[in-house]
Amino acid sequence: RRIGYALVGLGHLTLEELLPAFGQCKKSKPVALVSGSPEKMRKVAQQYGIKPENCYSYQTYDQLKDNPEVQAIYIVLPNSMHAEYTIRGAQAGKHILCEKPMANSSAECQAMIDACQKANRKLMVAYRIQYEPFNRHARTLLRDKKFGETKFIEAFNCQSSANPQHWRHKKALAGGGALPDIGLYCLNTIRFLLGEEPTEVFAYQYSTPGNPLFKEVEELMSWQMRFPSGVVANCATHYNTHESRRYRVLCERGWLNMDPAFSYTGQQLKTSRAEGKLGKKEDIEMEHKNQFATEIDHFSECILKDLEPFTPGQEGLQDHRIMEAIYQSAKENRPVKLPAVARKDAFR
Ligand code: NAD
Repeated sequence: RRIGYALVGLGHLTLEELLPAFGQCKKSKPVALVSGSPEKMRKVAQQYGIKPENCYSYQTYDQLKDNPEVQAIYIVLPNSMHAEYTIRGAQAGKHILCEKPMANSSAECQAMIDACQKANRKLMVAYRIQYEPFNRHARTLLRDKKFGETKFIEAFNCQSSANPQHWRHKKALAGGGALPDIGLYCLNTIRFLLGEEPTEVFAYQYSTPGNPLFKEVEELMSWQMRFPSGVVANCATHYNTHESRRYRVLCERGWLNMDPAFSYTGQQLKTSRAEGKLGKKEDIEMEHKNQFATEIDHFSECILKDLEPFTPGQEGLQDHRIMEAIYQSAKENRPVKLPAVARKDAFR
């Protein structure tokens, strides 16, 4: 049995990645669309064999409640719209898979969690990296202490952008700049790799004066996170550099390098084990899988078997709490402490 999805928002991610990825899913199928552009929706529906009566506008979205073909809604809208469409979707009786960043604030995340709980519906944040085989393998190597204790991590997720009119450059729609959009991958993946929550952050923020791209949102965020085990992570995200999406983890008796780490495809994992003078280097070979398909199928499996998703709403809420501390640190130019939080992710 396949779970039927309604996709909300027909932008870059839906058209270029998600709809094609459903072709590789084993437990999920697209059965409905929600868009503000009827003409575009008609074409996309035809292309993917979606019935005309399963095409909705933002105004008729709530009528999804009367459509038994739809069990789950995948929200792929600008960040500021995630909370509203999650809450309305849960009230329509559907399970919600929501794109990252989960929302524009931790308060919105909490409201989304509460609405899904109240409606007894599942909520998952689409953290694709946590369903990607190379990143999962890196986590296993670290958790199994293959190179001894983890000591230090460096991570970047940087790219360039050109259109100041795009919603990503409007604070009200995006919530922030490089940090919630792409820096979030460093933050979220490091928490996933370590299985720990940071207790302190310290950050610098910068935007080139006069550049219209960064009138409302930050160009650079550079930050450190301190973890209870003593690990320190050095992270940076930038909206105005050549693409760089990597991390390196330094351990007592080896290191692990993922480059690219956060891209849609092509992850490469190299390791070095302390052995001899130069260390024993290894390129990890394993099968690449479509991370969007593995992520969507994971949510379907949770619905089919009534399981808690691996990246539930609480995972997004925690990231937003940390991002709020990062912004506060950059603004006040001082380290900001975070409350101790136990991580409850089962190692699966
Ligand atoms: P996009 O701009 O390409 O698409 C956004 C869609 O929302 C468009 O179809 C647009 O018409 C629609 N929309 C509805 N109301 C709008 C409004 N008021 N202003 C602007 N657009 C409006 O964006 P995208 O790159 O597809 O991103 C959508 C979501 O997916 C974002 O939350 C983003 O962070 C996330 N995303 C995730 C990944 C990933 O790898 N997981 C990659 C890209 C984007």
